[in-house]
Amino acid sequence: MEKTTVTVIPGDGIGPEVVDSAVRLVEATGVPLVWEEAAAGASMFRAGVASGVPRETIESIARNRVALKGPLETPVGYGEKSANVTLRKLFETYANVRPVREMPGVPTPYSGRGIDLVVVRENVEDLYAGIEHMQTLDVAQCLKLISRPGCERIVRTAFEYARAEGRRSVACATKANIMKLTEGMLKRVFEDIAPEYPELESWHVIVDNCAHQLVRRPEQFDVIVTTNMNGDILSDLTSGLVGGLGFAPSANLGDDVAIFEAVHGSAPKYAGRDVINPTAMVLSAVLMLRHLGHLDAATDIEQAIAVTLESGTHPQDVRESGAVGTRAYTDAVIANLGRRSDSWPSRPSRPLRMPTADTLRPADRSVYRSDGGIDIFLESQLPAAELGPVLERLAAGTPLALKMISNRGTQVWPASAGTETYCVDHYRCRFVLRDDDTLLTDGPVHELLRRVGGRFRWMHVEKLAELDGKPAYTKAQGEN
Ligand code: NAD
Repeated sequence: MEKTTVTVIPGDGIGPEVVDSAVRLVEATGVPLVWEEAAAGASMFRAGVASGVPRETIESIARNRVALKGPLETPVGYGEKSANVTLRKLFETYANVRPVREMPGVPTPYSGRGIDLVVVRENVEDLYAGIEHMQTLDVAQCLKLISRPGCERIVRTAFEYARAEGRRSVACATKANIMKLTEGMLKRVFEDIAPEYPELESWHVIVDNCAHQLVRRPEQFDVIVTTNMNGDILSDLTSGLVGGLGFAPSANLGDDVAIFEAVHGSAPKYAGRDVINPTAMVLSAVLMLRHLGHLDAATDIEQAIAVTLESGTHPQDVRESGAVGTRAYTDAVIANLGRRSDSWPSRPSRPLRMPTADTLRPADRSVYRSDGGIDIFLESQLPAAELGPVLERLAAGTPLALKMISNRGTQVWPASAGTETYCVDHYRCRFVLRDDDTLLTDGPVHELLRRVGGRFRWMHVEKLAELDGKPAYTKAQGEN
């Protein structure tokens, strides 16, 4: 049988120990794999590699398309971006799949409830695109970019994952009630795609309620699909439900490349002490084996872990006295390969069918688009009551009239009775066409910017787009 080559990155801190456990277990199953070791993380930053990921490592992953990765850290004083985020973005591993399941013999406040759920987190968009600018001395901005194809592929991945594992439901967790366009896009795409999976129950849940429900009644969840930031937080919460980070594996999946890693980081204070729990990394290797189609080997390792934990051989994060070290625990799991747990069967699983570019629905580009005005974001320490008349005078004689001014999203001009907004030096000034029947062209925009820019420092301009005549932007708090 032809051997598959897998890139293996030992990583930093406890990484080499947990990766060693995973490699030993995979080898013990006899699957035909060869490892290609590659470096990334702290040592590479210190060696002068600005991204923390050297070219040889990138080439190895690009060639092999599958990697097993230990945690990476960005040492203080090096690198602007995390090496982990670099790898996710470079290989466009847009889906971060984080399953958690109650483990036998691992006591938690939820023991006996049968928690078995997976968070499917969008992995490359949202606030993690890392597009940040200081707007003024008072205000910092991070752009939350959510794309329709990005939503569609994560939603399809979640439904396909549910299908591959024979699960019953997919919940979509968003903050669509507040961020109607960005978080709302995931909700809308989810509701559009769900009918293609009629055998799966689908429902939307507001993300804060999802966190509450996960603590109150986690067993009601099966697959949860969500945006990047929500997923980051929810998935740490879910790992806490089943015994902590020592038991939380993950897969970063893209069209071409899949990178498997534990959810936890490099826990530097435990490095080299043979005390940490390698289960999360070993279960990440189990996900990798399923991805490669080695379903039996994956089940063998998963069952050996269950049998080991059931027999009372525990790593040190499960109990303080009588627990074993990392190596001894790994040896015990290897010794249990081939045995099956009576109480904890593995899930039947088929290889996951990732969405391909041609399964994504194209946008309806026949929609009629026009711009009804602009928002100019500018810096000023004037009170809004003074700023308004100044801007009205600057816009006089142009096709654009000042409609309102907001400060951090709340309308402050024209002021409504009882408004007590604390104003910082960052204003959004909304100008709309005086005449509904005209079309906004760039000429008046440039002219207004020239006039406003002569008096104030402006940071950015947003067009007020309308799609088929409906506003495609949000109103300020208090705006009519
Ligand atoms: P961490 O996950 O490394 O450790 C937090 C705590 O969780 C540890 O102190 C320990 O008590 C516990 N823990 C973690 N893994 C464990 C295991 N396998 N067994 C038992 N207990 C375990 O988080 P941190 O301290 O915030 O981060 C340390 C470094 O790791 C940082 O540099 C961070 O950037 C990096 N990090 C990397 C990744 C990654 O590579 N994907 C993820 C998270 C953090």
